[in-house]
Amino acid sequence: MLGCWHRFRGFGLLQYNLLKTLKLLLPALALALLSPLFYGWLQEFDYALLKLLGHLPTLLAVISLLLCISFNQGRLLLATVNLLLLYLVIQHQLQSSLNIPSNFVLFSLLSLLFPALQILISFLPERGLSMRWLARRLPIIVAGYLFCWLAAVNNLLSDWISSLPVGLIQLAFENWLISQWAAFVFLLAGLAGSLILYFRGTLADAALLTASLGCAIMISLFNLPYISLTAVSVCLLLILFTILFNSYSMAFIDELTQLPGRRALENTLSSAGRRYTLAMVDVDHFKKFNDTYGHDVGDQVLRMVASQMKKAAKGASVYRYGGEEFTLVFRGMDEATALPIADKVRQAIADYPMRIRDKDRPDDEKQGRKKRKKRGPTKDTEQVCISIGLCQKTDQHKDSQMVIKQADEALYMAKQQGRNRCIASHTKSPRKPKVTATA
Ligand code: GH3
Ligand code: MG
Ligand code: MG
Repeated sequence: MLGCWHRFRGFGLLQYNLLKTLKLLLPALALALLSPLFYGWLQEFDYALLKLLGHLPTLLAVISLLLCISFNQGRLLLATVNLLLLYLVIQHQLQSSLNIPSNFVLFSLLSLLFPALQILISFLPERGLSMRWLARRLPIIVAGYLFCWLAAVNNLLSDWISSLPVGLIQLAFENWLISQWAAFVFLLAGLAGSLILYFRGTLADAALLTASLGCAIMISLFNLPYISLTAVSVCLLLILFTILFNSYSMAFIDELTQLPGRRALENTLSSAGRRYTLAMVDVDHFKKFNDTYGHDVGDQVLRMVASQMKKAAKGASVYRYGGEEFTLVFRGMDEATALPIADKVRQAIADYPMRIRDKDRPDDEKQGRKKRKKRGPTKDTEQVCISIGLCQKTDQHKDSQMVIKQADEALYMAKQQGRNRCIASHTKSPRKPKVTATA
């Protein structure tokens, strides 16, 4: 029975990760669907406009590089450089037929170099940008393309055609220009990118994987006019979107709970209009969790409270105000409507059996089970309770800060009256909790 439960939980986790991965790929999917439209649109432009549009990837790459530097995004900077250099070499050295031996050799080299560098970039940890970090990685990318460029400019490539291995000459699929070796390296880049996206799950991983797939398609359909312009522009647009989204998240999303933070709350309140109710939420005796089990368990409690609040607070937006305090905003609702919802949130958290992990709990699940068997059953769940103070916006409130202050006063009363309860400033109906907080 327990085994079944573990398998079920494992399946749940797999499903959760898959859903999360698919969600991260949505922007890429949207762009992928739009790219045939963009490509068709390009065909209708006259030559002068197309020549101008040929600079679009460079422009997008320069914007992306500036944003990466401003917002400290090292991996996306390297991905941008990889795409930009690939595009520049194609534009300046690969604008005639692939039947010319030197062009074919250059094409073969690029079709291996780009995905190989993508694999390296995918494996890099998600860190900020420093000169030292960049100085160790950027030269590898630049050196690869510089080598191809110099060989092309010095007419060395045509001599290498006779020494190209068969795997670079034979196509992987009929009518597709991707060679067997290139298809293999792109496949590795795709596999590495997918695994990293699945386990690390960041939007930057989704952008990197999409760039690898996009350029694999570009190499396969290289005989189509403007294919490099289309593919590289789309990949760079995705990278730009990712940088902007990441910087938005850094400014507005709380890292620990993944809830919008105080800055996002202020934004919401400035546009919430005249009819809303605000609830200040505080975890009862939270310090006890930190003191008894350590800061990590305290963080687990905050994550649990955040996720339960998101589930139970129907019709409200949830924010992390700071520390162990949260805020609910009920747009278009008065206190009488918001109070039962707030109370459901309180009840949902009070009813949640919070499993406490031992500080010395082994990482390995099997060892952990063995250790628990030896030690026998222990009380490893704790009850977490919250107190809530509500206040609706009225004409007496000059600004949202006054509403927050009054909701805070109601919260203070809820604490005074024994915690684990909701109190509204104007509606006199403090609800009796079914359970009482454990001190
Ligand atoms: P009360 O019922 O009166 O609210 O008591 P309390 O213990 O919840 O309140 P108190 O203000 O005494 O303690 C809040 C603690 O929350 C103190 C602080 O160290 C801790 N804390 C604040 N932010 C975090 C965090 O992000 N993670 C963890 N683990 N602890 C935090
Ligand atoms: Mg507090
Ligand atoms: Mg507290």
